[in-house]
Amino acid sequence: MFATDAMNIFRRLHQDGIMSHMPFLSPGGRGETFLLHSLAPAISGDHSPRWKLHWMAEHTEPHRISTGLPDEVVECSPAAWHDGEGWHLTFIAGGANDDPAYRLFRMAGPCLSRLGPPSPLRSFVRAGFQFRDRLVYADFEKTIHVRQPFGDVDLEVPGVFILRVAYRADFPDKLLITGQPTSGGEVFTIEYDLATGQQDRLECDGHPAYKCTILGDDVLYAHRTGEDFEARHIRSGLLARTPADVVRRVAPGTQEPAALAEGQKGCCGGSVDRSPSPVAPRQSGAGAGSAASSSATPCPRQNESWLRKGITALRVIESADVPDAIRTARDLACTNCPYRYIVRGKNYCGCCGCPEWNLGSVGSDLGYKNKKAAWECPRPVPAFGPWGPDSESLTMVD
Ligand code: SF4
Repeated sequence: MFATDAMNIFRRLHQDGIMSHMPFLSPGGRGETFLLHSLAPAISGDHSPRWKLHWMAEHTEPHRISTGLPDEVVECSPAAWHDGEGWHLTFIAGGANDDPAYRLFRMAGPCLSRLGPPSPLRSFVRAGFQFRDRLVYADFEKTIHVRQPFGDVDLEVPGVFILRVAYRADFPDKLLITGQPTSGGEVFTIEYDLATGQQDRLECDGHPAYKCTILGDDVLYAHRTGEDFEARHIRSGLLARTPADVVRRVAPGTQEPAALAEGQKGCCGGSVDRSPSPVAPRQSGAGAGSAASSSATPCPRQNESWLRKGITALRVIESADVPDAIRTARDLACTNCPYRYIVRGKNYCGCCGCPEWNLGSVGSDLGYKNKKAAWECPRPVPAFGPWGPDSESLTMVD
């Protein structure tokens, strides 16, 4: 079986300090099986792993997919199909020092070793794929958008960060949705059938089938093998399904945005109306391109007066420093939060979508903000609120 060969190779790589992640199994043109995945050296220090895309066929070693993106860019969540023209690959990439925004990219070519340059399909997304004429992308929280010629669909997964959306290459209508509750809690993967609405929770050998792939009898998932959430190693497993009621289908555009429904906070601690659509990132560095910029909606904060921005920023700056225990609790909540970005070893909050964070400015620097009493987490369900010695307002939900 393909999975057995792959597992032997990954076991050896793991012993050499290489981590493996984000598997995607797909049949090639002659019926052979290919595995797309990401590899990275083991984590050291406070830096996120720099995952890089690879492919391997049955009985072969992994080969690097030449994306041409800078070394510092994280490449993950591959999905690919093969037809008469060759291979079509989509993946998520981002995290460059000068442009941390993540985008959905597409590459195509006659074989996986000779793909053309990546072109951005969608900006400011961390989960999604394209399969033929179906484009799927997810918001950070709750909503998955399915765009297709025979009718668009939106899927809601309330109270959940969407960590990956992939599909089964042998049943393309079956989505594999990996998420984590925004209130903390264990990750999970749901197999959701777009054709029937059937949904099942997937486990492998008693573990959540985290970011798994399924092709026929082969099942691979990214098992956590270390202290760090990102310490992963691809494993094969025995699949178990239990019926789920987690995903609900809604007509496109009718869902209530979580951010507006629950009162989004501005990145400087003030209350601010905000569209759930992503902000257009700065167009420089990896992944910059016209398609990316045209698909993004500008952040409404850009229209706020400088006076208002200044007042809310001053309130945070002038507030007292919190006790160490509070700052540590805040840092911990941020460490587990998918909105956190690491740029040059420093932590930034990217939740509000304000371009300020993208500049690596002090305004979004969590090393500074988390020690200020008036700072509050801008998540729709905040991980923590403002803090004062006379107040009980600090709430930790993670
Ligand atoms: S402040 Fe809140 S949204 Fe921002 S990184 Fe921390 S936990 Fe996440």
